[in-house]
Amino acid sequence: MSQELIIGAVVVGVVVLFFFGKILLKRRPKETYFMCARCSAVSRHTERTIEAWRNNKTKFFCQSCHAKWLQSRPPQERERFTSSDGSRSGCLGVVVLFALAPLAGFLLVQAYV
Ligand SMILES: [Zn+2]
Repeated sequence: MSQELIIGAVVVGVVVLFFFGKILLKRRPKETYFMCARCSAVSRHTERTIEAWRNNKTKFFCQSCHAKWLQSRPPQERERFTSSDGSRSGCLGVVVLFALAPLAGFLLVQAYV
């Protein structure tokens, strides 16, 4: 293996680690449980409430209250809240990363050659 290839591989590795670190080390509340703002039931945080927490929400609703709340919404609005835009863009980010990482490594190798 030539030196340029090793440097390229290291850069790709660092980029991949950086992105995965960002995905894995997403901020989450320190409490595992929260008290439902509607029925006061103690529930475990879910991806939904953690996402709300990241958006600086201080009130969380348990799964059943959230379902009831969703049912009280008009259909268009319901779709907006149930669509998984967040996770879709997350997947896209990973796809872009995998497409760009080898390219970045390749360009770096080219720059050194
Ligand atoms: Zn509740």
